[in-house]
Amino acid sequence: MTAAYGMIARSWPGLGAPPEALPYEIASSTRAFRKLTMALFDKVRNFDAAKRAQAAGLYPYFVPSQAVGDTEVVVDGESKVMIGSNNYLGLTHHPKVIEAAEKALRKYGSGCTGSRYLNGTLDLHERLEEKLAVFLKTEAALVFSTGFQTNLGAISALADSGVVVFIDQLCHASIVDGCRLSQGRTVMFQHNDAADLERSIESVGAANALVIVDGVYSMEGDIADMPALLDLAERYGCGLMVDDAHATGVLGAHGRGTAEHFGVEERVDLVMGTFSKSFASIGGFVAGDEAVVHYIKHHARSLIFSASAPPAAIAAVLASLEVIQEEPERREHLWRITARMKSELQGLGFDTGNSRTPVIPIIIGEVMPALSFWRQLFDAGVITNVAISPAVPAGRELLRTSYVATHTDAQLDFVLEKIETVGRKLGVI
Ligand code: PMP
Repeated sequence: MTAAYGMIARSWPGLGAPPEALPYEIASSTRAFRKLTMALFDKVRNFDAAKRAQAAGLYPYFVPSQAVGDTEVVVDGESKVMIGSNNYLGLTHHPKVIEAAEKALRKYGSGCTGSRYLNGTLDLHERLEEKLAVFLKTEAALVFSTGFQTNLGAISALADSGVVVFIDQLCHASIVDGCRLSQGRTVMFQHNDAADLERSIESVGAANALVIVDGVYSMEGDIADMPALLDLAERYGCGLMVDDAHATGVLGAHGRGTAEHFGVEERVDLVMGTFSKSFASIGGFVAGDEAVVHYIKHHARSLIFSASAPPAAIAAVLASLEVIQEEPERREHLWRITARMKSELQGLGFDTGNSRTPVIPIIIGEVMPALSFWRQLFDAGVITNVAISPAVPAGRELLRTSYVATHTDAQLDFVLEKIETVGRKLGVI
């Protein structure tokens, strides 16, 4: 084997073993090899949208911060108010959370170096599973390394061949991808529209079916119509799973999420959540009946074939779970902030869609004005997220603003003043 081919084969495992006899010029020249695979890279050469946005100063992604607090970050030496995080309860900098993470780092080291299935389960993972199940009033819970992997693993495990999965048209990408990985059939229904779900069930059948929705929709902050969806699921004998990534810690009198908010906890089959938002860390979970969780534990490939979440991350979640239960005033304050921001933004004339949660969109409806709005706010010291198609449907381009229990009134005054100024300048209001 020549050196050049060896290098390419090692970096591209999909190529397989090199053939015995290659013409010298192909085997020895990376450039010649690339020529052979030119079609593969056509899309790479043709992809210039991000570069054009960067050149125009309108590229809102992968912006690095050099220092991060719960409500302010430093970018290029300038402090900016962050209204684009999912740190809803402001726990990333809570002393108990930091201390727990530090202790775990010293006790267990920096990583688990293996999957939950083999060497990567710590007593910390199991303690968290027990505490989550008690908190959510389910029989069992299972901890994954990210929320995305939770949906991939749980959905593809449950939706084997013969299963129909009904998903909301605006549900999270990880739910869509979990369905793509499954052997089952996926049917989308209109956003939060129980009547459309019923039509889909009637036309496809529900003998072996699972309905999956987000509890809180991540871009527009609206809440799933759980009572209506559950009525249907029960009438037709389907299971129901809710992705509470943006709801755990936020919705419900005790922060148990969307089902608690509607008083329907015993009726939901499976709750999925993430630790990357209210829990101030990284990881994800599913919670439900012991038998279902046990099945997922032994069939979810994203759990079995991927390393477990590191000790410090899991210890931070355990501490956050305690704070969520011990300091309900954080959630109450978050809701006061949410009510204020929603009413002031609406009062200024912004379209905040159907938001009912601390995720409050400013709907703009076109790509370029949305990017300009983001950039001008950024320059004025306010960080938001901009969502354009396909993250939102075309025509619903928006600035996603989201609030944290520890935002101060002074920060919110500042944010509102800047949003009003830029909104008027761009003719959005
Ligand atoms: N579900 C929803 C609704 C989400 O918003 C997200 C993350 N944005 C996820 C799942 C994935 O969670 P994680 O970031 O922990 O992978």
